[in-house]
Amino acid sequence: FVSVRNLRKSYGSFEALRGIDLEISKGEVVCVIGPSGSGKSTLIRCINRLESFSDDSAILVGGNRVQPGRSLARVRAEVGMVFQSFNLFPHLTVRDNVMLAPRRVRRTPRDAARQQADRLLARVGIAEQADKYPGQLSGGQQQRVAIARALAMEPQVMLFDEPTSALDPEMVGEVLDVMRDLAGTGVTMIVVTHEMGFASQVADRVIFMDAGEVIETGPPGRVLSAPREPRTRNFLSAVL
Ligand code: ATP
Ligand code: MG
Repeated sequence: FVSVRNLRKSYGSFEALRGIDLEISKGEVVCVIGPSGSGKSTLIRCINRLESFSDDSAILVGGNRVQPGRSLARVRAEVGMVFQSFNLFPHLTVRDNVMLAPRRVRRTPRDAARQQADRLLARVGIAEQADKYPGQLSGGQQQRVAIARALAMEPQVMLFDEPTSALDPEMVGEVLDVMRDLAGTGVTMIVVTHEMGFASQVADRVIFMDAGEVIETGPPGRVLSAPREPRTRNFLSAVL
């Protein structure tokens, strides 16, 4: 459902991605792990073209090519993204944050958007916070709003870039629980994470990246417990 073909990305003369090939099926949950600077964020930012990439590379989402032009908005509407920093609009209430994209992009009528927002906020466990502003919420609650906001566009693919690494430890679990529930609903998920427990329990596949390349990929039971590549082994012995 997501195809990444020979993905190359340079910043000046520095090659951040050196020819990544990935095929991700519909409904698959993929966790991307790897050391700092290995290109994990760059990879997922390329998927909705928050970053440009080399002309001889191709990314397809649901058969549509991710390229500049008129079709880009359509592709982006299919791809939800959740960042490490929640990036909520501070001057809007929680409910208005969730309603914003459906109202602006889809022209969803106000009542329908409001009902949908309240449904999504209930689904991520914060229905009672709808009228508050992001600054009045805990980090874990804000991140759950960010997930609800991404889901409001009913994306086919959800991208997560270290969604729990800015959180206090006691709030990590509540966000991972929401992501675990989501994984059970058939949404395709690509999750950059350092949470090895989540990767081993929830991922269908783990991808280990280093220095802009995919070094190893496979089911979590294999990659995390019996890595084949020395670089994967070194990384895991440092983080586990
Ligand atoms: P981390 O685990 O620290 O988030 P990462 O695997 O997500 O790391 P990226 O953010 O994708 O790594 O960065 C990959 C490489 O590209 C790094 O060496 C980084 O310094 C470089 N890089 C990223 N963004 C830029 C930029 N805007 N300009 C120049 N270099 C960049
Ligand atoms: Mg990163």
